[in-house]
Amino acid sequence: MTKRKKYNQTRQLENSTQADLNKRSSGAGRSFKLFNAQFFRFLVVGTINTGFSYSVYALLLFFGLNYKLANLAALILGIIFSFITQGRFVFRNTNGKLFFRFAFCWALLYIFNIRLIEFFINQGFDAYQAGAIAVPPMTVLSYFIQKIVIFRKRAVQPETSTIENIVKPKLSFKNTKLSIVLPCYNEEEVLPETNSRLLELMKEMQELGLVSQDSFIYYVDDGSKDKTWELISKFNQQNACIRGIKLSRNRGHQNALIAGLFNADGEAIVSIDADLQDDIQVIKEMIYKFNEGCEIVYGVRSSRETDSFFKRVTAQLYYKLLKTMGVDIIYNHADYRLMSKRVIDCLKDFNEVNLFLRGIIPQLGFNTATVYYERGERFAGESKYPLSKMLALAADGVTSFSVVPLRMITWIGLGVSLASLAMVVWIFVAKFALEATIPGWASTVLPIYFIGGIQLLSIGILGEYLSKVYMETKQRPRFFIEEIR
Ligand code: UDP
Ligand code: MG
Repeated sequence: MTKRKKYNQTRQLENSTQADLNKRSSGAGRSFKLFNAQFFRFLVVGTINTGFSYSVYALLLFFGLNYKLANLAALILGIIFSFITQGRFVFRNTNGKLFFRFAFCWALLYIFNIRLIEFFINQGFDAYQAGAIAVPPMTVLSYFIQKIVIFRKRAVQPETSTIENIVKPKLSFKNTKLSIVLPCYNEEEVLPETNSRLLELMKEMQELGLVSQDSFIYYVDDGSKDKTWELISKFNQQNACIRGIKLSRNRGHQNALIAGLFNADGEAIVSIDADLQDDIQVIKEMIYKFNEGCEIVYGVRSSRETDSFFKRVTAQLYYKLLKTMGVDIIYNHADYRLMSKRVIDCLKDFNEVNLFLRGIIPQLGFNTATVYYERGERFAGESKYPLSKMLALAADGVTSFSVVPLRMITWIGLGVSLASLAMVVWIFVAKFALEATIPGWASTVLPIYFIGGIQLLSIGILGEYLSKVYMETKQRPRFFIEEIR
């Protein structure tokens, strides 16, 4: 196919898609005819709905409920039943969020129906006749209210991706210069396996033309006490694409990671744990996304099945807690991600000592993408994140990004003050109106403990932030490099 012809075809496709979108969003082609198939479906389903509500009503009466309660129960069940049936069979719209709108409209319709019946009774009809006369206008009215107010179909939003795909040509491979950074702390058991798998992957990606020949793997030894550094040195001697950075002592995962990221060379830099829990094959996908113009690609675990029950529940609670405190964080994403060189340069402007990269990266902006993977078990060795380190990281996540706990102190203080005001009122009532005996020591002693507890907690939270300020003002270096290979 010639280039020109292909271009013409693309233009045609674009034009027809655009015309289609215009038509859909302007609402052209939507019919408002009353006696269409939808209306007849509505009549059939409506009759069934009425039959259902009436049966419930009669059944409840039979079992001895009084008519008001029976009517109410039948109405509530009837509304739920008819919401499902109308939505599914008449308007083909099964969005459960519409239920409250449905219930509200039906409450109004119900009132209107009673008024209508009263009106016909005043005209001299008896109650049965009035009810029957009110049926046709009510039917038409409720049909339109449902069609227009409740189950209305929104104009179809254009799917941006399809248009974009047509307009934007797919990028060709770029032969990216890649660096993979792995922080390692006492990882002698797993490193040989990690290294051979990464080398294999690197070779494969180079053969595919995905990454360049001068790509690197960086191991950061975070002050390990075992043979980790010896292993890294050996790998470095065996293979030119392997580099090692040795920190002068253990500074923790986040600092080790930063040390690696800042010293790594490359257009794109991937950070990953050394224990092979994250699927390394996903790196290829990350590079595809990078080639498409994404500067941050998050690796997100699609399930947490390999985690213990405790870790799974606490992790999920923690992510939710951060979200409610306004910390922007990617759900189920740890520190497995790709970043462009530019993003790393931006990261250098964050000088905080209390590092929580998961919170910082989403603040940077840029084009981002997500890739999903199954997280496996640790290949060998045991977790280098004991509960204490995990709690410290969790606390950093909250206090480095959110001032909500500080504000909460104010609200708790306000709440307790209001509660004590209410207590004063109660004391007056008890004393003068009820002439009750003075309540016992519980009401005296409990508030003391209660307020005492809240005060200590509040001071604790203040202290937590103060300690952060203390650490930050000193601006101490986050790591020292002892050796680079
Ligand atoms: N790590 C580190 N310094 C530490 C603790 C951990 O560099 O003080 C590294 C560790 O070697 C691993 C990564 O951080 O590559 C994640 O640790 P781990 O797999 O033990 O944590 P988990 O997956 O159990 O949360
Ligand atoms: Mg791990």
